[in-house]
Amino acid sequence: KEFSEISLKDIDQLASSSFPLCMRHLFDKLRENHHLKHGGRMQLGLFLKAVGLKLEDALAFWKSEFSQKVGAERFDKEYSYSIRHNYGKEGKRTDYTPYACHKIISSTPSVGDHHGCPYRHFSEENLRAALGKMGVGGRSLDDILDKVRSRHYQVACTLTFEAVHAASCDSGINHPNQYFEASQKTLQT
Ligand code: SF4
Repeated sequence: KEFSEISLKDIDQLASSSFPLCMRHLFDKLRENHHLKHGGRMQLGLFLKAVGLKLEDALAFWKSEFSQKVGAERFDKEYSYSIRHNYGKEGKRTDYTPYACHKIISSTPSVGDHHGCPYRHFSEENLRAALGKMGVGGRSLDDILDKVRSRHYQVACTLTFEAVHAASCDSGINHPNQYFEASQKTLQT
């Protein structure tokens, strides 16, 4: 792994520069609501682990948000276990792997859930607004929405990557962590 560690103090900046839209959305909702449901905690938590957020930092990060909503005590009792679990520190000690695009795209978020793939699960109106916030507009936006209408969600994500970074992504996007790594590579050159 080339990006073996990230620091908690850089996480907001990394979220806005290098997270794909699915993770950016979860991250923003967590910061906004100080809470995410199980599906969102899994999708974002495993992504952050693979990005290189260490267990202690992950616990501090989730706790700083959740404790504003449910209190520190309840966080420690009800939520810290599953974070340790994702890092293979509890239960069967499996080192869980982050979700690939196909898994995220085929998930079925319900009302109040924020996991899933925005290209697949957002209304066109919400997707337009989310892409606008990333600075994507004009011809690029039209091309992306065309791909979404023809159900080529990963191609839409690849076009977003290219618009945001003004660089090509020849391999195409098939994993949120691949998006992150390609973004960091592009920004560092
Ligand atoms: Fe995330 Fe993959 Fe959807 Fe892009 S295509 S938003 S990386 S699930």
